[in-house]
Amino acid sequence: TGAGPILAVKNIEVIYDHVILVLRGVSLEVPQGGIVALLGGNGAGKSTTLKSISTLLASERGAVTKGSIEFRGERTDQLTPGDLVGMGMVQVMEGRHCFGHLTVEENLITGAYTRPIRGAELRDALDKVYAYFPRLKVRRSSLAGYTSGGEQQMTAIGRAMMAKPNMLLLDEPSMGLAPQIVAEIFEIVRDLNQKEGVSILLAEQNTNVALKYADYGYILESGRIMMDGPAKALADNKDVKEFYLGMS
Ligand code: ATP
Repeated sequence: TGAGPILAVKNIEVIYDHVILVLRGVSLEVPQGGIVALLGGNGAGKSTTLKSISTLLASERGAVTKGSIEFRGERTDQLTPGDLVGMGMVQVMEGRHCFGHLTVEENLITGAYTRPIRGAELRDALDKVYAYFPRLKVRRSSLAGYTSGGEQQMTAIGRAMMAKPNMLLLDEPSMGLAPQIVAEIFEIVRDLNQKEGVSILLAEQNTNVALKYADYGYILESGRIMMDGPAKALADNKDVKEFYLGMS
């Protein structure tokens, strides 16, 4: 795939139910090994953008009607979410989505469904997740439904890691969590990025924290990118400060 971006979204338009226009020409890129933040308020279209990329949109009666999306240099139009997981792109959905009646470890194991592994190989993959998330090791035999919100978010990210991703799409990883837990999770995400080389695209309403960890950011408003730039420049920008910082 060379030096090109791992993900390139070009001018996509998205319509729900054949009539509701939600994205009005969104373009963004994630460089190999980058952390990119997609920012914006409630209903701006962040989740829709992520679902367009992972091709999960079809299950919500949505469709990309214009533009193109390329992952590792390949158009994704004809691919299924499963194909993309096989190519290394894994989405962690908003709201964590753990199986509450399964243990933390069983949840993690479900993440390896695209590359059935057993025995020592499975153990190694789990140990790797536990090395990043020591809390999950402690909680591995607990039913996920009885763990804290932060632990459930960690379980969701850990499960995604079990598929050996080269790109993670994270939808509002900070949602509903205390600042200290949010910081803990973002530190681990940065570690994953730096040590495993996983490229990250994260949708966040929490502009402060997202710009602290991302290299680059895009601000989405009513289905359009209103502004983009290096995270530091956005964090220092007067309009961003006024409209988005402290908004979480
Ligand atoms: P949130 O933080 O609330 O998830 P968001 O920026 O992720 O916000 P989206 O969830 O992408 O925003 O929603 C963008 C717009 O699309 C909203 O106006 C929403 O009501 C609409 N929308 C989302 N899903 C559907 C759907 N399945 N059918 C019709 N409209 C939808």
